[in-house]
Amino acid sequence: MPDDRLRNVMQRILNAADAAKRPVPALLAVSKTQPAEAVAALAAAGQQAFGENYVQEAAAKRAALTAVHPALEWHLIGHLQSNKAALAAETFDWVQSIDRPSVVDALARHRSTGRGPLNVLIQVNVEGEAGKAGCRPEDLDALAARVAAQPRLALRGLMSIPVPYPDPEQRRPAFRRMRALLEDLATRHRGVDTLSMGMSDDFPVAIAEGATLVRIGTALFGPRTS
Ligand SMILES: *Cc1c(COP(=O)(O)O)cnc(C)c1O
Repeated sequence: MPDDRLRNVMQRILNAADAAKRPVPALLAVSKTQPAEAVAALAAAGQQAFGENYVQEAAAKRAALTAVHPALEWHLIGHLQSNKAALAAETFDWVQSIDRPSVVDALARHRSTGRGPLNVLIQVNVEGEAGKAGCRPEDLDALAARVAAQPRLALRGLMSIPVPYPDPEQRRPAFRRMRALLEDLATRHRGVDTLSMGMSDDFPVAIAEGATLVRIGTALFGPRTS
């Protein structure tokens, strides 16, 4: 049952925060590849925020669900192609996968003035993994300044997907480094309050290192089939 899974995940989040004496992070339910009905079931159980990897898939689900669940919050967590920026600026409340100047400019250009600013997280390739999405730590300051200069965007913080070492403990140094980057960024930019890290198999470690938002798919929806 979706509400059993939701209760179980929320309890594990509470336990991890309690054990580490950290504030309880927000839960983003990662609904990529899941049908709109699965999102609706979790929304009916009280979950508000959903994460998607593909712009068109998210736009279709949002359209299907908006009549019954108008207040859901949609986050893009997958790579954003520049030619999808217009639809992304319209579909999402948050974009967590900002990693280069061209998408900053495109999202700002397309965010309608009829809505609030688009919340933005910069994705950091904190371990410098070859071929992986995310900006290099040394490029973060310039990219953050570019976001902050756009009135249609609100710089809220950072997102990271660490190297998926089999033992979540091995991911701890990357989480810790992200925390340091966030704290540094927050000294220079007002409104920076979000550190998005931790997935189904490593969220307790991410919470212990200061995640304020965890992105969880499998533990909420079961294994993805497609
Ligand atoms: C799929 C995905 C998740 C969720 O992963 P699970 O292991 O299913 O919890 C989180 N973040 C990103 C960026 C993803 O692509």
